Amino acid sequence: MTDELPKTHAATGAADREAAPGQPLLRIEGVAKTFGTFRAVDGVSLDIRAGEFFALLGPSGCGKTTLLRMLAGFEAPDEGRILLGDKDIAQALPHERPINMMFQNYALFPHLSVRDNIAFGLKRAGMARADIATRVAEMVALVKLEGLEKRKPDQLSGGQRQRVALARALARRPQLLLLDEPLAALDKKLRESTQGELMELQRRLGTTFIIVTHDQEEAMTMASRIGVMNAGKLAQVASPRELYEAPRSRWIAEFVGDVNVFDGETKLRDGHRLVIGTRDAGPLVVAEPREPVGAGKLAVAIRPEKVKLSRRGPVSEAGYETAINRLDGVIADVCYLGGSTTYKVKLETGGTVQASVANSARLDVDAYSVDQQIVAWFSPDDCVVLQS
Ligand code: ATP
Repeated sequence: MTDELPKTHAATGAADREAAPGQPLLRIEGVAKTFGTFRAVDGVSLDIRAGEFFALLGPSGCGKTTLLRMLAGFEAPDEGRILLGDKDIAQALPHERPINMMFQNYALFPHLSVRDNIAFGLKRAGMARADIATRVAEMVALVKLEGLEKRKPDQLSGGQRQRVALARALARRPQLLLLDEPLAALDKKLRESTQGELMELQRRLGTTFIIVTHDQEEAMTMASRIGVMNAGKLAQVASPRELYEAPRSRWIAEFVGDVNVFDGETKLRDGHRLVIGTRDAGPLVVAEPREPVGAGKLAVAIRPEKVKLSRRGPVSEAGYETAINRLDGVIADVCYLGGSTTYKVKLETGGTVQASVANSARLDVDAYSVDQQIVAWFSPDDCVVLQS
């Protein structure tokens, strides 16, 4: 990597002033896109802050790519505004925006060398030859492709092709880089190491990145904020931790990570706690949520790693109330995953609870086996009350 890093700048003058880090760079206001009668993007409003690594996460077909394509200028919204600084760029052509997009399939030109692929956009923008050579060298060093400049894409590995695409997308120093599933074509190990490199690169450049992914671990690893999309709408925008620990809805709780959800009907107040009567796990005690719980059906969500297991029941710990949220059952299934083991416990109350236990010792003396009597328990603070 070079020490001399390019500063981002507006390539076209679509935004005259750059936003200061942390300030909104891009404002998406009520943006909608309809294909025929299908609303692929349905009234999305979102601020993207300068210098942040933002992830758009959602299941296949939820509208992530369509939203990204509208930011890049490959689709025009039917409704809403896309503001860069104080200018509405919703109808501007792609090359008129200081925004670049890296495509899922990389879209490299097969007949052009690495160098010419990276130089392509610079030539089209009319940059002088000497400046192009300098910029391409800078980009090649940035993505660590030195020595491969003359190769064609089919003479490169998948990871190297990904770097060429990244270098090409960054060559014009966009203010905002859009990455559509940039790591999808890489194997798991390479994907993980490339995630780290992309984060490092983004930090060093200070360029705002928006990544589209359907892989929640990828979004959580890389992004400082995540926007979860469902059926064309933004379901929640939050930090990875908040999304995981305080999901706003049952759908988000179930989409982001594994979760046990117990449907409940009634609620009683007990000091700063609520008691929720659940069908499958009996009464559960939960810490009072920050937002008031309204009338109607409720559910209690608890992540599997927060469910403790033991043969005899909760161990007495200072300040820990051992009688609450104690569920007796039998181990119904064991799934060994290396770093952890997931146990499915069939409860006497009728339901099932999943517990994920870290394998902190090499020997399996603490492991449980199918049909073993077990007690599962969890703390009220680890429960999330969901309105369903
Ligand atoms: P994936 O993760 O599978 O790429 P996505 O969330 O990126 O999904 P989009 O590509 O944005 O989803 O598509 C959203 C919906 O809009 C899908 O149902 C898709 O079939 C539809 N769609 C996208 N582009 C068009 C188009 N040009 N014409 C008609 N329908 C389209």
